[in-house]
Amino acid sequence: DKKLVVITGTSSGLGKATTKALLNAKEYHVIGAVRDLEKMAVVAELEGFDPERFTAMQVDLASFESVKNFTKAVDKFRGDRPIDRLVCNAAVYQPTLDYPKWTVDGHEQQLQINYLSHFLLTSGIMPMMTDSEDARVVMIGSVTGNDNTVGGGGVYPIADLKDLDGLELGCKKPIAMMDGYNFNGAKMYKDTKLALMMTSNMLHERFHRSTGISFSSIYPGCIAETPLFREKRPWFRKYFPIFMKYITGGYVGEEEAGTRLFQVIHDPKCVKSGVYWSWNGGPREGRGLEAMEKGGQIVGAGGAGGGWESIYENDQSDKV
Ligand code: NDP
Repeated sequence: DKKLVVITGTSSGLGKATTKALLNAKEYHVIGAVRDLEKMAVVAELEGFDPERFTAMQVDLASFESVKNFTKAVDKFRGDRPIDRLVCNAAVYQPTLDYPKWTVDGHEQQLQINYLSHFLLTSGIMPMMTDSEDARVVMIGSVTGNDNTVGGGGVYPIADLKDLDGLELGCKKPIAMMDGYNFNGAKMYKDTKLALMMTSNMLHERFHRSTGISFSSIYPGCIAETPLFREKRPWFRKYFPIFMKYITGGYVGEEEAGTRLFQVIHDPKCVKSGVYWSWNGGPREGRGLEAMEKGGQIVGAGGAGGGWESIYENDQSDKV
């Protein structure tokens, strides 16, 4: 029997590229969680996804009800088979908004789509994973809190959840940000990625031993060609890929990024729990929870050019 993999956002970018790699490996059946089934059908046709091993299911991550219905549909589809992998990949990026946009549930859109709904989805799917021999939950993070990489600290603002005052108050309209401070679209995106990475650590600490499920997060590299950047200003769209490729060396193509995520999903080496995977020639492990989280920030992701080593040498975590 094929291993069952649930991935959100397989209709574009990293999710699409990773699905291609998984289908090539022949031992997986991918359940693609997508908001637009028609778009998915066209993409699957163009990319040649094998319908025997790929099933698209509808979910709108901007709605908790939709996430719950999706979870039920997955449960029905799997029958008595366990879910072997859950990959929280879908995201939106709205850095230039002056004001928050709200979901039907009253949360800021990036917050709910990127983070809250993946939290809900993970808690719904985890019970379906405990019978798997090799269960992995993978969160797609980003470089969010580095002072010494272009993607992290070089481009402000830096992700910072502070004391989570906003979240404690429910993070509902008119409160957009998890730290409770004024809305900033670019920071909101980075905060959601930071929250996913911290959740992965927390799940590892609380549930790895009792469930056997492995929890990790990954920074796939800066994939400047995906539509994630579609809401940026035109000059930025034009020059950013060139900038990343030639100036910082931190650019990866969609296919390479997909191969990296595939490796974290597939490689026996990457079954290790509690790891933040970044790239430096191959998958590199983070150095444990203390190294990663300092004052609510993630430090030391292998972003543009650098790996853990170089970052460790000039650890700037006391400044963040
Ligand atoms: P894309 O915009 O190409 O893909 C995002 C996916 O999320 C799309 O399939 C999109 O669906 C889906 N999605 C968006 N909103 C919803 C929703 N409400 N419900 C369900 N699905 C939704 O971006 P990328 O492939 O670049 O991003 C994938 C992941 O990689 C993200 O988590 C991102 O944060 C992360 N990442 C990206 C980097 C980059 O440089 N691009 C760098 C580091 C991390 P649709 O196809 O319908 O639009």
